[in-house]
Amino acid sequence: MIEVQNVSKGFGTLQVLEGVSLDIHDGETLAIIGRSGSGKSVLMKHVVGLLTPDEGRVLVDGTDIDTIPYEELRRLRRRFGVLFQGGALFDSMTTFENVAFPLRYFSSMDEGGIRDRVQECLDLVRLSGVGTKNPTDLSGGMRKRVALARAIAIEPEYILYDEPTSGLDPETSNTINDLISHLAEELNVTSVVVTHDMHSVLSIADRVAFLHERNLEWVGPVSGIHDCSNPHLNSFVKANEY
Ligand code: ATP
Ligand code: MG
Repeated sequence: MIEVQNVSKGFGTLQVLEGVSLDIHDGETLAIIGRSGSGKSVLMKHVVGLLTPDEGRVLVDGTDIDTIPYEELRRLRRRFGVLFQGGALFDSMTTFENVAFPLRYFSSMDEGGIRDRVQECLDLVRLSGVGTKNPTDLSGGMRKRVALARAIAIEPEYILYDEPTSGLDPETSNTINDLISHLAEELNVTSVVVTHDMHSVLSIADRVAFLHERNLEWVGPVSGIHDCSNPHLNSFVKANEY
């Protein structure tokens, strides 16, 4: 279980998060929504320890991730797969090497094991034939799927997706949503999905957390987003539904 406790974060004079608290339950798919600039990516980066809160803390199974020793943090990071906004692939490496990267960094797998695991992950995202290509030669949807294959390579317990369907056509978005659901259901992965895409939210999320002007204004089951009393969430849902 991940507990975000009273986290505040600013950059210079810009306050981005103020006293945000959120529990992420094992096995659930939680969508974090909110308009552009509301702090969704910043919140997600706190969950994996890439940003340190100014105030508050983040606990993973009761351990504060900002105060643990480096070796323990490294072990903890191994439990997280992250699909960054924009993909963040290494364009100078082949697709194969991109997916192999976390295995080389986090595991002691031999070359044969790495080859098999990369192939398995590329098969899962239906990109079996593109291992030798560079990411620059792939379409946007394929790049997202490579990033997804890389995120799952180390068999994480938690996967965090930052805008996994942005910029994709509806059909490709559905493929990504199906993959996210498949990983959650078949592999029992806990998923956090940052998105504006209400179609994704409705098709994959169990719960929804809504960020608005530094605060987490609403958290509840996905079934509650259409009949809640929060006016900001109501207008966000209306504006992003179609
Ligand atoms: P989008 O939907 O457009 O991705 P978001 O909700 O993910 O938006 P964030 O990326 O979390 O928004 O950014 C929230 C605010 O914090 C923005 O104003 C952004 O410019 C600022 N910000 C984020 N990271 C940094 C940083 N490292 N240094 C300075 N400002 C930052
Ligand atoms: Mg973002």
